[in-house]
Amino acid sequence: MLKVQSDLMTNRIQGRGMKFIGAHVSASGGVDQAPLRAREIGANAFALFTKNQRQWVAKPLEEATIRAFKANCHMLGFKSEHILPHDSYLINLGAPEADKLAKSREAFIDEMQRCQQLGLTLLNFHPGSHLKQVSESECLATIAESINLAHQAVPEVVAVIENTAGQGTNLGWRFEHLAEIIQQVEDKSRVGVCLDTCHTFTAGYDLRTVEACEATFSEFDSVVGMHYLRAMHINDSKAKFASRVDRHHSLGQGEIGWSCFEFIAKDARFDGIPLILETIDPDIWAQEIQTLRDLHAQSVDSVAS
Ligand SMILES: [Zn+2]
Ligand SMILES: [Zn+2]
Repeated sequence: MLKVQSDLMTNRIQGRGMKFIGAHVSASGGVDQAPLRAREIGANAFALFTKNQRQWVAKPLEEATIRAFKANCHMLGFKSEHILPHDSYLINLGAPEADKLAKSREAFIDEMQRCQQLGLTLLNFHPGSHLKQVSESECLATIAESINLAHQAVPEVVAVIENTAGQGTNLGWRFEHLAEIIQQVEDKSRVGVCLDTCHTFTAGYDLRTVEACEATFSEFDSVVGMHYLRAMHINDSKAKFASRVDRHHSLGQGEIGWSCFEFIAKDARFDGIPLILETIDPDIWAQEIQTLRDLHAQSVDSVAS
């Protein structure tokens, strides 16, 4: 068995029967505030930005902030494999122009270093855009090379590629794109995927029924491999099926509907990894998390009885 597979199996076995559910919480006032906010909504996983996501450069993390972040995570029981930092929206690891690519790679390495400083092991990012200047394959190869360079620069942190809705010239909306990137990454133990349910759906993979979910995740398994799944973003969609538009909605209020989220809550393939809400109403995150937990509890009860 490949090392990446056995590591993941261990991870899954340790997290078997457990769901790690949270939301992308604010880090305003300092990253150390994020775990406290996650706790307030009953989360046992969370996502955050480790710097302002709309700026290229940020001042380095202060030693006191790093210590406070680690202490809060420890105190509240958040483990690094359930914390999913997201990189800046400005970064394009597949940028066709040399200067933009260099700037993106530098910023991405900085993001990875920040994760490492915080004791975090995952970094979630959108793969990149070809901007109609290069072919899809060239862009995917550039993205893979960007990941290889980041791996060489920073130890330990896993590059977690998020699938996209495929807006504009964004790549990563087809499972084949994700597979093509992973295939060209040298250290396969440090690359993974985050599937966003909204993006999956608007990219053209149906999730509206149990049968549709089964088909979509088995397609993901055959094209990419379920063992690469390191996280999920749990979002409903305002935009229609296969529209290639990225507009999130609260669970059950959009085009996807609750059967998908019930499927994920009950299916053991999604145990042990962070399941992160990026839904549009933070006031109901606690409620959304609780509903997912209740659905998961039903599946555990039905196995036990
Ligand atoms: Zn997402
Ligand atoms: Zn999105």
